[in-house]
This record gives sequence, C-alpha cells and structure tokens, in this order.
Amino acid sequence: MTHIRYQSVQTREGDNAEVRRLFPLPGRLMNYDPFVLWDDFTVRPGAGFPTHPHRGFEAVTYLFSGEMQHRDNLGNHSTVGPGGAQRFTAGSGIEHSEMPGDEADARGIQLWVNLPLRLKQLDPGYQEIPATEIPQQDIDGGYVRTIVGKGSPLRLHTDVHYLEVVLGDNAEYGNTVDETHQGFIYLVAGDATLGDTQLEAGDACFLETGNIWQIQSQSGCRLMVCTGTPHREPIRQHGTFVD
Ligand code: FE
Repeated sequence: MTHIRYQSVQTREGDNAEVRRLFPLPGRLMNYDPFVLWDDFTVRPGAGFPTHPHRGFEAVTYLFSGEMQHRDNLGNHSTVGPGGAQRFTAGSGIEHSEMPGDEADARGIQLWVNLPLRLKQLDPGYQEIPATEIPQQDIDGGYVRTIVGKGSPLRLHTDVHYLEVVLGDNAEYGNTVDETHQGFIYLVAGDATLGDTQLEAGDACFLETGNIWQIQSQSGCRLMVCTGTPHREPIRQHGTFVD
C-alpha cells in the first residue's frame, strides 16, 4: 500500500527547547484521536520547561539521551535517563517543571494522550519507569522496546501500544494495526522506506485500523510506532489544557 509522508515542523517551546512537532499544527493537523501532541525534543542544559500547569490528559516522555527531571506540586521529583520514561496523569490538574540534566542535551519524545470526558477529573499522578523496566526484545537486525503495551509497567487510561524500534543496515520490521487502534510511525533518525515511501528523520506516516505495514531500513534507523483506541470525543486543547 502507498503511504503518505507527513513532515514534522521545527519550532521552539517552553524556555528555548527545540522541538520537531507532528501535531498540533494549526491549519494542518490538530490531533490524531486519541493523541493530542507529539513533540520530538532537544533540550540543552539551561533550557527546558519551567513550572507550568496541565489538565485533562496523560503524557509519556521517553528519553533517547541525556536526562529529564520532573518536579511537581504533588511532591514528586524524579529523573530518568536514556531508555527510561515518565508518565503523568494531569487529570483535574497538575503543575510541574521538566528540565534537562546539567551535563548533556536531553533528547526524547513527549506524547500527550487524551482522557475520555468521564475521566477528565481524575486525581493527578506521576509514574517513573526506569530504562531497566521497559521490555526489550531482539529481532532480526535490531531490537524493539515496548514503552506502553504488553510487559511494560507504564499505565495509561487509554488503550495504547507504543514501541521504539531500532534497526541496523538493511533490516526490516513490520506489524499490523490492532483492530480498535489508529496511529502512526515516526522516524527519529536514519532513513527507511515504508512500502514505497521514502522517509527521513522527522517524518511520519499515519496508520489506520487493520493496516499491515512493513518498514525497511537503509543505513539503519530508529523509529517509534504509536497506536491507540480513539475516544471519538471532541479534543478541546487550549495551550497546556485539554478539556
Ligand atoms: Fe508539561
């Protein structure tokens, strides 16, 4: 099948954090139910996201390199490193800061997942998932890490399947989108083809229920696969709130 290549847009968020954003992009794509935001970030020491409020959704931050410190008004203060993840449930409201370590750029992905209307008022919460707790499976020519899904301790209130796939030269990986899911693949680094569509770092292809897909790396690549069950409710995002 033919996939449409969708390019992220370079922007700046927070206090001087560099972001490649897939969505929301006004006039282009505001969300992809149940997903509200996808930012591929690079945060230099000294830059970051000082204290700010959120409500109405859950977020997963996954780190490729460097460190990310989360500090919130619930009393959590937690740092994760490469291959680790942080999940917060904003629910009825949370305030937090997200800042890199002092030594190196923090590079990773932040994903926002909507909460259904009946769960918007959930108590806020936070979960740290160290790299050692994320299941990793070797495949031919690479490996797959399950950030959200079978075997991962990371808990969300939406059915989500979220993988990191790392492939060496000329390796292949494929999957089928679950019958209740929709989502996308996103190329973090390297080059690869999805079917006959050539992808570069920062590109995505959207996937629909039941799609069978296969990716082929050329000189190696790192990609994220993210699908979930849509809530089929309006996604009303106002800055850092999703009501
Ligand atoms: Fe935040």
